[in-house]
Amino acid sequence: MATSKKDIRALSKEQLREFFEKQGDKAFRGNQVYEWLWHKAAQRFEDMTNLSKETRDMLEAHFVINHIKVDAMQRSNDGTVKNAVRLHDGLIVESVLIPTATRTTACVSSQVGCSLDCKFCATARLKRMRNLNPDEIYDQVVTINNESKLYFNRPLSNIVFMGMGEPLMNYNNVMKAIEKITASEGLGMSPKRITVSTSGVPKMIKKMADDDVKFNLAVSLHSAIDEVRTSIMPFNEHFPLEDLREALEYWYAKTKRKISYEYVVWKGINDSQKDIDALVKFCKYVPSKVNIIEYNPIDDGDFKQANNDALENYIQCLEKNRIVVNVRRSRGKDIDAACGQLANKS
Ligand code: SAH
Repeated sequence: MATSKKDIRALSKEQLREFFEKQGDKAFRGNQVYEWLWHKAAQRFEDMTNLSKETRDMLEAHFVINHIKVDAMQRSNDGTVKNAVRLHDGLIVESVLIPTATRTTACVSSQVGCSLDCKFCATARLKRMRNLNPDEIYDQVVTINNESKLYFNRPLSNIVFMGMGEPLMNYNNVMKAIEKITASEGLGMSPKRITVSTSGVPKMIKKMADDDVKFNLAVSLHSAIDEVRTSIMPFNEHFPLEDLREALEYWYAKTKRKISYEYVVWKGINDSQKDIDALVKFCKYVPSKVNIIEYNPIDDGDFKQANNDALENYIQCLEKNRIVVNVRRSRGKDIDAACGQLANKS
C-alpha cells in the first residue's frame, strides 16, 4: 500500500545517526537500526527487539520499510524457483533461484520492464515502468538466499543481474545494492560471485571501470556484425560494436578482468560461417569467453534455435582459436523462468 511516510532504507547510516540525535537519542541507535535493516533484513520495526517499544513506535510514526513481497512462487521440475515479487507501489518483477549440484544462483531484476527492445526477449515487450531501488534489488537477493537455505540447505553462492531490465540503465541503484550485498554490514558476499549482464552500454561500461568495481561483466553480444546485431537488438544502432569494443578494451585495461559474452545462435539469423568468423575476431580484442545459451522461445516464429551442426561449428571454430566456450542449458523453462522469458505472465 502506498504511503506518504518515507522509506527508512533510503537513509544512509550517517543519516540514521543524525536522525536519532535530532530525536534527542544516542547516534548509536542509528547503527543498531542500520544493522536491523540491512544485515538482519528486518521487515518490521517491531522485529527490532533490542530497541525499546517507544523507539520502535517512534520509528513506525516516521517511516515505513517497503519490503518486497513474494506474490507467487513457482517451482520447476528441475528445481528452479521463480518468484513474482510485488513492490510497494503494486508493480511486479520476477527473480529466479537456479540450483545446480555445486551452487545456487540468484537471477535478479534491476528494472520494472525494460527500455531496450531486443526482439527475442519477453521482457522487452513490457514497457519500462521504473528503476528498482537499491533495497528492492537487495530484498530479491535476501529472499532467494532464504529460499536456498530452506529448499537446498545451503546459502546462495552466486548472483547474476540477468533478470528484468538493463542494469547499466539503473547504474546508481544497482551499484548501491551491490555495495550492500557485498558489505560485511549487509550480506557479506564476495563481488567475485556477482555478474552484471548488459546488452552493452559503452559509456556505462567505462564508468564501471573507472569506479573500479570488483564484480564480473557479461555482455549480451549475440552477433559481432553490426547489421545483424541491429536487426535483433535495435539499440545497437546507437551503440555500435566499434564503441562497445572500445569500452571493453578500456574495461580490460583498467580491471584486468575477462569478459563473458552471452550468445544465442538462431537459425538463419547468425548461424553462418560469416557470423562465426566475426565472433572469433571480436573475441580477440579483449580476453574473453563465450557462453552459448539456448534460445528460450517466447511465442515468436521469427526466432528459432539453430540446429546442432551450427552450434558444433561455433564451438569448434572458437576452440580452434583458443577461445573458451561453454554451452549453457536453460533452466526453469517449464515455468517461464529461463533467460528472456520473464514477463510477469502469471
Ligand atoms: N539487459 C541485460 C540483462 C537481462 S537479459 C542484458 O541484456 O544482458 C539476460 C540474458 O538473457 C541476456 O544475455 C539476454 O540476451 C538473454 N536473453 C533474452 N531473451 C532470451 C531468450 N528468449 N532466450 C535466451 N536468452 C535470452
